[in-house]
Amino acid sequence: MNNPHKNAIKQLEKVAEVLRPVYEDKKLFDRAINKLKNPDKVVEGTVRVKMDNGETKTFKAFRSQHNNAVGPYKGGIRFHQNVSKEEVIALSTWMTWKCSVTGIPYGGAKGGVIVDPKKLSKIELESLSRAYARLIAPHIGPWVDVPAPDVNTTGEIMAWMVDEYEKTAKKRYKTLIENPVATFTGKPLLLGGSKGRTEATGLGGFFILEQLTKKLKLNPSNNTIAVQGFGNVGYWFAHYAHEAGYKVVALSDSRGGVYNAKGLDPDKILACKAKGGTIESCARGTKITNAELLELNVDILAPAALENVINPNNAKNIKAKFVLELANGPTTPEADDILSKNGIIVIPDVLANAGGVTVSYFEWAQNLQGYYWEKELVLKRLKELMDDAFLRMWDLKTESKVTARIATYMSAVKKVVDTMILRGSI
Ligand code: NAD
Repeated sequence: MNNPHKNAIKQLEKVAEVLRPVYEDKKLFDRAINKLKNPDKVVEGTVRVKMDNGETKTFKAFRSQHNNAVGPYKGGIRFHQNVSKEEVIALSTWMTWKCSVTGIPYGGAKGGVIVDPKKLSKIELESLSRAYARLIAPHIGPWVDVPAPDVNTTGEIMAWMVDEYEKTAKKRYKTLIENPVATFTGKPLLLGGSKGRTEATGLGGFFILEQLTKKLKLNPSNNTIAVQGFGNVGYWFAHYAHEAGYKVVALSDSRGGVYNAKGLDPDKILACKAKGGTIESCARGTKITNAELLELNVDILAPAALENVINPNNAKNIKAKFVLELANGPTTPEADDILSKNGIIVIPDVLANAGGVTVSYFEWAQNLQGYYWEKELVLKRLKELMDDAFLRMWDLKTESKVTARIATYMSAVKKVVDTMILRGSI
């Protein structure tokens, strides 16, 4: 079975091989790499929920804190039936690299509960969210660990968690605690959320696409894009790409997709879907499956839905020139090798989808200041950080003659290792 923690270790070992010659003290470097293979701490427990029928159910829950050399642990909370300890650990490791690569002052964390939230009523969901907040309360705080939404968790869930965390911490410390609002990001605007957070991940991916286009001197109107997943990330990415003149020729969601060589209008499709349509009924073109979308003859392929969709079974059939990983972990390590052998440039998830955590960082900064920014300022600063992260990666890629993924990881891992060495913590 695919073990995501093992994948994360494999990736780290691959990058360590390239970085090792740079370090004079090899033993110190090896010690840092070995430490980074495992999280600093995993909080593990069961959360109890009183169901609407009076029964009490328990659910397994985790919070993995991978590394905090650079700053407080940071990462989302996932409610899903496929959550596992290994997955939470891997996702927390990737968060360390994601925060490092964009230069934001955070380490990596992730949380998860093994539950199918679609089977819960709203009251049960709130009860689960509050129970989870109580479990992790002693381990989080604005300068310790700052959770956020992830798969199946929302701004409303963050609001419940802020409230429960504040109550729990007050009971524990018998006094007012420091800034509970700055302990969670991805909150609704009314409770200290940031303007621009909704579009941040898709827009961040679009800024990366723009930089790639500039570097390779491509003309947007000659470039076709296929996007798998038409949720928050996929829609916003497609929206900005379409607006900038790229030809979005294929879109899909869990029910399948549509291809049209003349291009699709993401906004029209979204408006039609909001009235109850499907991508197929809302868009003119040929009906395609999600598997077919990945193998289309397009310039840019943007997987924006699930992990492991590009794997050894289909990697050799991928015809796109560029893969922009908007989802987390859409390409398995084996498939990544095949794409690289075939000359396909893959912009990795930890860079391509870092726009979300970057605006989460802005949200935290605003909460700590108690001073809120206009949307224009949020998006301007997002562009600055995304452009900068891409350009640093591209220079390293060119200089070291490595893939974009290795260059991204080199810059991310090096910064964390150097900080650990500087602290003398290894
Ligand atoms: P979402 O729930 O809003 O959208 C997911 C989309 O994927 C939906 O359109 C859904 O129909 C589609 N989908 C589900 N199963 C599918 C399948 N089998 N085949 C094709 N499409 C399928 O989620 P999102 O927030 O857009 O997140 C998408 C990906 O981006 C996830 O991997 C997530 O971890 C990653 N990500 C999201 C953010 C963020 O800020 N939202 C940040 C970083 C990474």
